[in-house]
Amino acid sequence: MAGTPQSVESIEAEARAALAAADDLPALVEARARFLGRKGSLSAILRTLGSLEPQARVTLGEAVNGARDRIEALAAERRISLEARRVEADLARGRLDVTLPGAPSLRGRLHPVTRAERDIEAFFSTLGFSVEEGPEVELERYNFDALEIPADHPARDAHDTFYVRPGVVLRTHTSPVQIRTMSGRQPPLRFIAPGRVYRHDASPRHSPMFSQVEGFLVDEGASFADLKGVLYAFARHVMGSDVKLRFRASFFPFTEPSAELDFSCVLCEQRGCATCSRTGWIEWGGCGMIHPRVLENCGIDPERWQGFAFGMGMERAAMMRHNIPQIRLLYEPDVRFLEQV
Ligand SMILES: [Zn+2]
Repeated sequence: MAGTPQSVESIEAEARAALAAADDLPALVEARARFLGRKGSLSAILRTLGSLEPQARVTLGEAVNGARDRIEALAAERRISLEARRVEADLARGRLDVTLPGAPSLRGRLHPVTRAERDIEAFFSTLGFSVEEGPEVELERYNFDALEIPADHPARDAHDTFYVRPGVVLRTHTSPVQIRTMSGRQPPLRFIAPGRVYRHDASPRHSPMFSQVEGFLVDEGASFADLKGVLYAFARHVMGSDVKLRFRASFFPFTEPSAELDFSCVLCEQRGCATCSRTGWIEWGGCGMIHPRVLENCGIDPERWQGFAFGMGMERAAMMRHNIPQIRLLYEPDVRFLEQV
């Protein structure tokens, strides 16, 4: 044992003391390496084995292995207790007060126009109408021609159309859905078609995009009286049982007879306010009996079938319901305003 610098027993005793003295994790790692590492004192003993007699080599080897296992176990034990102590210390430092009010979480909500649209769909489904959709980028043919609005027709100017390219427009109304839906189907038909429409309009009172709901019914013996009945039921559903409707004779190329539709201002109960321009009435949309030529354009025999159609602004209903004076407010990205609605 002449070359042995230290006995295994004394190294183990030293290691036990060093591990017990290590009072944080870095100190423990360092202490463990000092005895068990490649350059540690037990490894130094192992390097002397080559010079020993076989019997002594076995004895010393076993002693070193036993000591190494015990020191390893001790280091692991010490690590667990030091880690537990660190968790305790962290908890003590960052004590959590569960009685403090939490940060409110932000909840998303449906836009008022989306709510109006869903409400309208639900109402008309109780009358047996189903919901149809059409593309917002529409063929000029469906947006105008099939609705009896040829290229030289003055009604086309009133639509302030956005052209995507020749022959293709952003639809200016939801009426092309009528054509798409009626073509290739036979009556009786009952549909509503809610959706966004686009008109080039620089007025600050208007929005270049707004939502319309189009409704139409084709059946034997459908009459203007049926149309009024449906519109009254709808208006009362949206604005309450006191609402009055006014039908003003008008002209649309795709209906005959045609009427423009106003409702009595719910905000001022017809005493006159800014929203109704002091008239007591608010324009809502247009309606009429579907022109026989439009039915023919869709392959429906106008001798046998009659139909009515109506189209109105969806925002108007949302504005009345939520007391919103200007349509543009609905489409500006002002969450503070929308939150109030
Ligand atoms: Zn008013």
